[in-house]
Amino acid sequence: MKYSALALLRGALSAHRNWVPAWRSPEPKPTYDVVIVGGGGHGLAAAYYLARNHGVRNVALLERGWIGGGNTGRNTTIVRSNYLFPESARLYDFALKCYEGLSRELNFNIMLSQRGIVMLAHSRHDLDSMARWANAMRMNGIDAQILTRDEVAARAPLLDMSPDARFPVLGGFTQRRAGTARHDAVAWGYARAADALGVDIIQNCEVTGFLSGAGGRVVGVETSRGRIRAERIGIAAAGHSSVLAKLAGFRLPVVSYALQAMVTEPLKPALDTVVSSPGTGAYVSQSDKGEMVIGAGLDLFPSYAQRGSFAVLQGVIAATLALFPSFSRLRMLRQWAGIVDVVHDSSPIIGPTPVPGLGPGAVHQLRLGNRGIQGDPRRRLDARARAGDRAQSRARRALPARALRHRAPDRRSRCRRDRALMLAAASPP
Ligand SMILES: Cc1cc2nc3c(=O)[nH]c(=O)nc-3n(C[C@H](O)[C@H](O)[C@H](O)COP(=O)(O)OP(=O)(O)OC[C@H]3O[C@@H](n4cnc5c(N)ncnc54)[C@H](O)[C@@H]3O)c2cc1C
Repeated sequence: MKYSALALLRGALSAHRNWVPAWRSPEPKPTYDVVIVGGGGHGLAAAYYLARNHGVRNVALLERGWIGGGNTGRNTTIVRSNYLFPESARLYDFALKCYEGLSRELNFNIMLSQRGIVMLAHSRHDLDSMARWANAMRMNGIDAQILTRDEVAARAPLLDMSPDARFPVLGGFTQRRAGTARHDAVAWGYARAADALGVDIIQNCEVTGFLSGAGGRVVGVETSRGRIRAERIGIAAAGHSSVLAKLAGFRLPVVSYALQAMVTEPLKPALDTVVSSPGTGAYVSQSDKGEMVIGAGLDLFPSYAQRGSFAVLQGVIAATLALFPSFSRLRMLRQWAGIVDVVHDSSPIIGPTPVPGLGPGAVHQLRLGNRGIQGDPRRRLDARARAGDRAQSRARRALPARALRHRAPDRRSRCRRDRALMLAAASPP
């Protein structure tokens, strides 16, 4: 069914009794050309583009719960491509460009709101690294604009701009094309469009194992709804990619952490941009319903529990209230967490898996890319974990070796320079 004003009017005249479900709920067939595990945004998009761009329509998407019930429905809805490294910048800007045309393409309003994102600098060090960050974005062809302190104040008037603020704001930078998109709508829009092209979306169907054929090739999956055979199988299970990889007999160089978010009660329009404070790990935007959507940093211990720890929650609320003191009067409505799979050098892993028939490699979510350059203490943790994972990463990674070789000394010299700047800032004139 094509959604239009006329269809809405027709629906209203028939008391909305004749709408057809946006996608079917078929029984799984015994065999498919492709099985995709995971019904989040990535799995649904993969199914849709397989059908639309490559004519592969005999596809099953298997979701253990309901579509969008994983991270896709738990995220803070921010879309952006303000990444430092060229590999990430290209990937995320390609995605942002897709978002810009997605409502029209899917005939489904994903409520994209390009209200911009403001990244806050709280120190001279932040100012310096953000200048580098914004310039790198521009070199990669992505919009970025450095903001003075006054420009930041004009974009987010509720920020505490006083010089004795707990986290003084010295300036920042913005990506104007960034913003928010309704996460459920992205899942539903892709599901509807994939279903229309013949993809079977099978919910309440958990993959519990893989079927092996000749030469160790994966030829199907064991599920809670029986065996399903397939020529090719893709995993798009976000924080559970490593669990599925283990079932298939290999290890992914990712670590899974809980990432939390929360919303306040709704209020009248008060914040018309996304504000992110990488130094504190807190970021805020206002939803279309009026709630303040607050995102936190990672819980820094590996976990598959979709809860999140109190200490991180407390820290992010304290930081948010220090940045926006007037929010102290708001009541918190909900808090939740999702599980993200983090790659410690912040570079996408895209490539074949060591198991024939299974691939391409897991799509992963990485969040440390630009936080790393903020001098975040997590970087030390990264370094330790990276040492352990380096051998695996090297084997799996599709990035050119040249890019990796270049990156290590670059980071080391940046650390040295950052330390020198901090010492200069700390020492008396
Ligand atoms: C709190 C939070 C805030 C975030 N904020 C943002 C943000 O503002 N902007 C942004 O770009 N990103 C954000 N992210 C990250 C973003 O949500 C994820 O990158 C994205 O949703 C991942 O999509 P996905 O399809 O890969 O995974 P998911 O949406 O998690 O989908 C994976 C699906 O796989 C299913 N699954 C797992 N195991 C199995 C199995 N064995 N069998 C069948 N199905 C299985 C799960 O049930 C799940 O539905 C945030 C994440 C969190 C947790």
